[in-house]
Amino acid sequence: MYSLFALLPILHSLFPTVFAAPSFLNHSEPAYCPGGNPGNDVQAQPALLGSVFFKRQADQPRCGPSQGNQLCGLGTCCSGTGFCGTGSDFCSVPQNCQPNYGFCDSDITPTGPDTSAEQRNAQGPVPYGQFIFNCTMPQTLALTYDDGPSNNTQELLDILMSAGANATFFVSGNTNGKGAIDRTPEWVSAIKRMDAEGHQIGSHTWSHPDLNNLSSEDRGVAMRKNERAIANILNKYPTYMRPPYENCNSESGCLTDMNNLGYHVVAHSLDSQDWANPDNLSAMVDTFDSGLGQALPNGSMLLMQHERFSVSAINLTRYILMDITQRGWKVSTLADCLGDDTRNWYRTPSRTEPATMAIDGCVVSRNGFCGTLNVFTNKQECDDSNRNCYTQVDDCNSANKGAVCDDMKNICDFQSLYCASCGTMTPNISCETKDFGFSNQP
Ligand SMILES: [Zn+2]
Repeated sequence: MYSLFALLPILHSLFPTVFAAPSFLNHSEPAYCPGGNPGNDVQAQPALLGSVFFKRQADQPRCGPSQGNQLCGLGTCCSGTGFCGTGSDFCSVPQNCQPNYGFCDSDITPTGPDTSAEQRNAQGPVPYGQFIFNCTMPQTLALTYDDGPSNNTQELLDILMSAGANATFFVSGNTNGKGAIDRTPEWVSAIKRMDAEGHQIGSHTWSHPDLNNLSSEDRGVAMRKNERAIANILNKYPTYMRPPYENCNSESGCLTDMNNLGYHVVAHSLDSQDWANPDNLSAMVDTFDSGLGQALPNGSMLLMQHERFSVSAINLTRYILMDITQRGWKVSTLADCLGDDTRNWYRTPSRTEPATMAIDGCVVSRNGFCGTLNVFTNKQECDDSNRNCYTQVDDCNSANKGAVCDDMKNICDFQSLYCASCGTMTPNISCETKDFGFSNQP
């Protein structure tokens, strides 16, 4: 137990602190109505979108606590080192973006059912709102992978499949510049495959914050955004979560919040320590061997790995699967090794109709409002379409059409980031409607 917490300072050193500071960007789902939100200033938006830069320039605006708490301009992000700009070097959480000093890619709210009003009854024998440190089934190993999906997911799934083993994936919604899981085709297919092949999908939050440092409301947002994104892919969302950095305690109220949100909170019995030395397979093997030595012959193990470290996800997994099956142990999902029936692994949102549609130019349709995105095939047209998008949000707000205006604004915000990065990023994203994800073609 204590060893877990002893490691946290090291984990912290790998990631930036979430800064508490005056925020012009309320770090929650966008508020209804105009106000201080950056996207609402229709006049300023296109100019900023036109000045995209990815390399630091002499006159590049500065931001953040080291710069007198300066905020970035509309539509731009404050990098981890305090420069304003766009693209993943500035906007990707958790390392490269300071949420309270500008926009971050995690400020987007997924479309699809809002889960905030969902019933979250306790179901099954596993406790809610308290840490789980190990499996309960003897001679069973639960493999768990954080921070995915990643470029290693498909190969890892191949390895698990050939061993006939199932694992648990704690997925994060929009981190490390990988793009939103429900809007990036390779992540959508990776998560669908995890589910189809019998693996368990848990939540690792939308944006990988330290949950102890957030308000109760923002913790809810961090969980619900990921629920929406996962539900957009699988039409269900998890009841198991692992807090980033495994930080979630009683003092902050985090465990109570997770209980209220209906989550089992997962730690580990053995940390692979892949994060400490991501290329060192023999160190990971040693860590695993000694942990297993203590669990043999009839114990169990809940192992934590990180999917984005390929030596861990691929090589260490191969070693473990070979080793453990020779010892007669089973490999299973976490829920299976806790004796929790599959019907308790997820909740199904009661509202299954998506909030947004992309039929015939109408991207948001409820309460009689139909927002549209103009077709765009290049960067200029993308910016033009985005300006029009925000004009419609203003019109919508002027007409007091309620929450539907927020839905449209979410799309505009997402388009704003897309327009800022398309045509310049590597790998190149073309500035085309079909890649944006909200086609206005029938
Ligand atoms: Zn993580």
